[in-house]
Amino acid sequence: MQLPADYHMHTPLCRHAVGEPVEYAARAVEVGLSEIGFTDHSPMRRDDFDNWRMRADQLDEYVEKVRRAQREFPQLIIRLGLEVDYLPGHEEWIRELAARHSWDYFIGSVHYVSDSWDVDNPEKLSKWKERDAFEVWSIYFERLTMAAESKLFEIIGHADLPKKFGYVPQRDCTPLFEKFLDAAKRADVAIELNTAGLRKDCKEIYPSPQILQLANARGVPITFGSDAHAPGEVGMNLSRAVELARATGYTHCSQFVQRQRNLAPRERRTCDAHVAQTLRIARKRCAM
Ligand SMILES: [Zn+2]
Ligand SMILES: [Zn+2]
Repeated sequence: MQLPADYHMHTPLCRHAVGEPVEYAARAVEVGLSEIGFTDHSPMRRDDFDNWRMRADQLDEYVEKVRRAQREFPQLIIRLGLEVDYLPGHEEWIRELAARHSWDYFIGSVHYVSDSWDVDNPEKLSKWKERDAFEVWSIYFERLTMAAESKLFEIIGHADLPKKFGYVPQRDCTPLFEKFLDAAKRADVAIELNTAGLRKDCKEIYPSPQILQLANARGVPITFGSDAHAPGEVGMNLSRAVELARATGYTHCSQFVQRQRNLAPRERRTCDAHVAQTLRIARKRCAM
């Protein structure tokens, strides 16, 4: 099976990942990927917001690390992205980030359900015990819906992240998922199949088969990502994610170049003229 692009990976700048982009790229070549994209955790306007992202003054260094990998691995397509935290009120900051570099795509992720609780943070597990899971999931999906509607992102990250530690509501969450996916469809934003969930307590790809079925029924596009925080995780379980995508009805996935959905699969795009040509044939999709 030719693996799809792995569009979600990190760098040590976020303070909880190991390995330089050149090492991730080397691993990508080793496992047979033809395209990857770096998406380290975006800086916040305030560097003291939390302790698991790059500082704002490291953004140029991040881009240079990715550019170095692009220079050293010309045989591999390497995209420049960011995993950007969506919190209501941060829209202007996200627009500022977007203007700073020539990004290929932004993954919009919700980790925070309030200014102080990132639901996937193991240091804050006790918060889950104080709260009703359905209430937390409701806030989460409300924010995810806002992220899709904001049109600030090409891809929405790990759409059901709150399941990470196994806190899944007893109540039916279908209406929350449907509202989010309707918004994603309207905004023409993709969702990612993120295999990191398989490495967590939930032991399941993000998002669930149910969400993927609802997404496919609406024609919401997809991408794939390992969410690698170490070179050895690049491409991890992507073949399982492809199987899941196919089982839920998907036949194509999306690629992004300079914030446009792109299509023709696996061509080399190394010069501006070629990019322009690629963009003209945009709005098709690549076969998985
Ligand atoms: Zn991370
Ligand atoms: Zn994330």
